[in-house]
Amino acid sequence: MKIICIGRNYADHAKEMNAPIPSQPVFFMKPDCALLKDGEDFYYPEFTSDLHYECEVVIKIDKVGKNILPKFAHKYYSKISLGIDFTARDLQSKCKENGLPWEMAKAFDNSAPISNLWLDKSNLDLDNLTFSLEKNGKIVQNGNLNQLIFNFDNLIAYVSTFITLKTGDLIFTGTPAGVGPIQIGDTLEGFIQNEKMFSFAIK
Ligand code: ZN
Repeated sequence: MKIICIGRNYADHAKEMNAPIPSQPVFFMKPDCALLKDGEDFYYPEFTSDLHYECEVVIKIDKVGKNILPKFAHKYYSKISLGIDFTARDLQSKCKENGLPWEMAKAFDNSAPISNLWLDKSNLDLDNLTFSLEKNGKIVQNGNLNQLIFNFDNLIAYVSTFITLKTGDLIFTGTPAGVGPIQIGDTLEGFIQNEKMFSFAIK
């Protein structure tokens, strides 16, 4: 199983990061040990002092595919969920300054917490679906899939031109504006529409 993450897929987030809006999807990867299931504790890592949350809708691939055409991409996933792309922003800034890969800032253990709930996409309107993240009970991120620069089908098609997608692979589809730091003692709760998807305590 692999985790593919899409960067800068919401214009307002690209703007808050002072990054250009990409003309093609930006992606990077996390290893399987990045996964953290809802109900498990997240421990603030010692190597960062500026850990940020990025709440993202996640696609689960359920069929092997390579060079998938956008018009067939919908056949390669049936369920979506919600997760966090934890980012050591201080390390990421250093990587960016030096033109280095982002893995140390993005791919560390437990950097991809995810809900245990998977929603069937046939019951959802993926062109107009709201999701949100609350930090200590206050909304910090509010997204709608209608703001995606590259929709799910285009992401699957693009990534599969480089990497074979396999059953069980996850794609984190990018974060809307409002990313920010967390501290030990904070709680992060994610919602798709009004449904609570996860609750993670930072320890
Ligand atoms: Zn992200």
